[in-house]
Amino acid sequence: AKETGRNRFQFFTEDMNRKIDERLRLQSRLQRALQRGEFIVHYQPKVDLPSGRICGAEALLRWHPLGEEAVPPSKFIGLAEETGLIVPIGDWVMRAACAQSKEWEAHGLPAISIAVNCSPRQLLDPDFIERMHALLEETDIDPGRLEIEVTEGTIMQHPEEAIAILARMKELGLKLSVDDFGTGYSSLSYLKRFPIDRLKIDQSFVRDLPDDRDDAAIVEAVASLARSLGLRVTAEGVETAAQAEFLRQHCNDEAQGYYFSKPLPAADFAALLRAGAVA
Ligand code: C2E
Ligand code: CA
Ligand code: CA
Ligand code: CA
Repeated sequence: AKETGRNRFQFFTEDMNRKIDERLRLQSRLQRALQRGEFIVHYQPKVDLPSGRICGAEALLRWHPLGEEAVPPSKFIGLAEETGLIVPIGDWVMRAACAQSKEWEAHGLPAISIAVNCSPRQLLDPDFIERMHALLEETDIDPGRLEIEVTEGTIMQHPEEAIAILARMKELGLKLSVDDFGTGYSSLSYLKRFPIDRLKIDQSFVRDLPDDRDDAAIVEAVASLARSLGLRVTAEGVETAAQAEFLRQHCNDEAQGYYFSKPLPAADFAALLRAGAVA
């Protein structure tokens, strides 16, 4: 039994060491990624359900390390957050998305809103508001067409602080969305204090629509709650015509998902936007 214990411990430490090595390697690659120009932004259409037209885009970060396979956000956003690298990376995404939006506008494409994700470290960074302000001046983008997506979890880490920062973002004229709504732990008493414009219903509630009665009830309830609070709604992760139809009937606001389009490189997104409707 002693032998087994030691072996098991050895396996455990080897495994730990390998994980730590991998992490350090990833971290040093991530540190160089910005200056090497390895990031790009993809854009996923958001569709206005009543008209079927593209009304917005969510900017989603993509990392293609030189000479290596692409690394998905799930593999590096967490590490970027822990190390604080998400602050400069997030600034870069924000600037890239605003510049892209300006370029589409200059090319005479339909005016849409651009949504950018904002992590806890970014939101709570002491200079965040100042940098947002500078970015708006510099890129000359209409702040009302820039939407910042923040998860419930992000807000609830430091609710009072976060609410104050969100309020200052509203003063800048920005639009605010609560991402992954329903997966965090914010109580309704907090929700009514969030100075937000929109709830994004998490894809876990959309996945089994329209057959799952619980999910159907939850989506209807969120839509009705949003209506009562004067908030708009976006349903995420719409993959089927049946899901889109359910949402059209019970929420009829905005939707996003593979059924309409995957996140696309900027040029492909522009082509789709020029063409108009997606479904
Ligand atoms: P998120 O903000 O909830 O973004 C939605 C994710 O769902 C994206 O994954 C998108 O590609 C995926 N998705 C869209 N439609 C569908 C669908 O119909 N079915 C399914 N199964 N998935 C769909 P992605 O691009 O891998 O991003 C994952 C997460 O990484 C994002 O979740 C967000 O939390 C984070 N992230 C991505 N870009 C950024 C960024 O620029 N900054 C920060 N802070 N986080 C980012
Ligand atoms: Ca998002
Ligand atoms: Ca989401
Ligand atoms: Ca998510």
